This record gives sequence, C-alpha cells and structure tokens, in this order.
Amino acid sequence: MKATLFRGEDVNHETFDRVHQLLQAIAGMNVFVGQGEPLPLPDKPILAWKDLFEICQSARENIAIESDTFIFVITEKPNERNFFGYLDPVNPRNGFVHAGDWERFIHCPAELPVAYHILALMLQHQMVQSERELAHILHKEPVGCVNDFCQNKREVILKMRTADICPNCMELLAKKLSPPEMNHVFELLESLRIKMLFAQNMRQHIEPSPLVVTSEYNLVIPAYGNLEIRMTPLEKTLYLLYMRYPEGIHLTSLVEYKTELQDIYANISSLGSLEEMRQSIDDMCNALNNSASEKLSKIKGHFERVLGKELAKHYYIHGSRGERKRIGQ
Ligand SMILES: [Zn+2]
Repeated sequence: MKATLFRGEDVNHETFDRVHQLLQAIAGMNVFVGQGEPLPLPDKPILAWKDLFEICQSARENIAIESDTFIFVITEKPNERNFFGYLDPVNPRNGFVHAGDWERFIHCPAELPVAYHILALMLQHQMVQSERELAHILHKEPVGCVNDFCQNKREVILKMRTADICPNCMELLAKKLSPPEMNHVFELLESLRIKMLFAQNMRQHIEPSPLVVTSEYNLVIPAYGNLEIRMTPLEKTLYLLYMRYPEGIHLTSLVEYKTELQDIYANISSLGSLEEMRQSIDDMCNALNNSASEKLSKIKGHFERVLGKELAKHYYIHGSRGERKRIGQ
C-alpha cells in the first residue's frame, strides 16, 4: 500500500513530521510520503467531510498522485460527525484523520493515534467493497481490533493498546494484502503500541535493550518499536563520543577529544558555519564553563522523558563530580 500525507494549515509541521516518522520507523513494503506544504482549509469552525475529501482530490490532481495511492489530510479542526478519521465513500483512497482533542481520550502525544488511524483506515479499505459493507465489519462492541468503531471515543484506548486485528478481520485482509505488506503493517502497529506504552508510563517492567545509531545518525532502540531519542546536534555529538568510549571520559579531558568531536559534529549536522561549529565544540571542551555538564543534564532529560527515570539510567551519561563519566549505571 502507498499513502501520501498532507497537513492542513492548522497543523504544525513538527506534529506532521512526527506522524510521518512514526510510519517510516520500520522499513517495509508499504510506502508513506509526507508533503511538507500545508493545504488551505475552509474558514469554518467545523469541517464538512465533503470539503475534506475535495481537498484530498484536488491535491491528488494538482500533483498527479496515482489513483492507487491513499491521500490523507491531517487536521486539528473538528469534523461534522466528530470522527477520528474517515475515507471518502466515493473515492475511498481519499481520507482525513483528526489530530485535535486527543488529550481528552488518551494520554499520549497526538501523533500516535493519528499514525494509528492512518494505518487502520488503509486496512479497513482493503476489507470492504463499499460503505455499506463497512457498517457490517465495524465492531460496535470494542474487541481490541483496528475495526473497533469506538462510539464512545474513550474506547479507542483498547484498540491502541492491543494494536491487534481480530481473526474475522484478519481473514478479510489476507485476501487482499500480500504477507510482506501485512507483516509490515503489523510491525508498524506493534511499534505504535510500544511507543504508546512508553508515553503512558506503563514501562516499569521493560528490560533495557541496545541503543543503535542509524546511518542518518539517529539514536534508536530497535526493540522498543524503533523508539527514537531526539537531541540537538551538539548533545548528540557528545553522546556519540561517549558511546565510543565505554570506559568513560573525564569532563576535564574532553579537550583531548576536540578533533574527534568536530568530526562527529560535521557528520551529523549540516547546520551553521564551520566557525560556529568550532566555537560550540570549544565551549563544550572548556573545563572552565558549564557547557558540557549542561549538555549531560539535557541528554539525561531526553532519555527520562521518553523512557522514564528507571529505564533511562541505563542510557544516559553518569558520573559524580570529578569522576570519569560514562554511559549507563
Ligand atoms: Zn475485527
């Protein structure tokens, strides 16, 4: 399956990028393209479905998107029937997903349920020929399946926590999708499920698992659904240096690693001038200012926010004052 994602002008590009990244977290058969330019929305407090589907259709025509590619517009504005998302009955490759109000139903960042519903709608389309058939396969009583209808919107938490597809729906799906396509969708759903568990603090019993650096220098933990730990280029530069030296480095000795830090930074960031880069690295290596220890506490914060205090201890850079600092406890 292929999908092109658009954001309405009311959705900021950070949220949009995070949705797109979630759907690209695992490489596979299904392709998700993100269109950065926002689409204008009607100036109404509540959007009509017809308008949303028309917006998709004109975007499809404007940039010549193939007819077998899904188009989703993501908007925070409420829609007329207050749905999480829906596909156009006339052209079910056009659809919308709602990115607003999620905090009322589920305690996690909006990008997780938005990415989930994009996948759910794409799957739904494979299972039915018409809107009428859809009414038959949707589960009025939630069973923890992508096709749970969730009349009461709070019920959405069940299907996201299970990230599962019930045997009946699975049978329908297997007729339309190839095994690699299905596996990829399952892996993506599972990665969203794990990320939601982290976001909801249900991570006490999770064992630490290796963190890897991708070819784009992203820090991800594959076993946690490719969970990414984001940090600024300078923080990441320092972290990558510590990854290279598991035995640890004194903060006061950082100056001995200056060239190595510059090399790492040059690899991971194309931002700023060479001069600025040198200055930032000089500051970080200067034992007389706080730059490096500030970065260490920022790095600790990034891990704690994503993994929780206990699990984060295995990943951030530790060490008492005057001691060698190193990654992990
Ligand atoms: Zn089902």
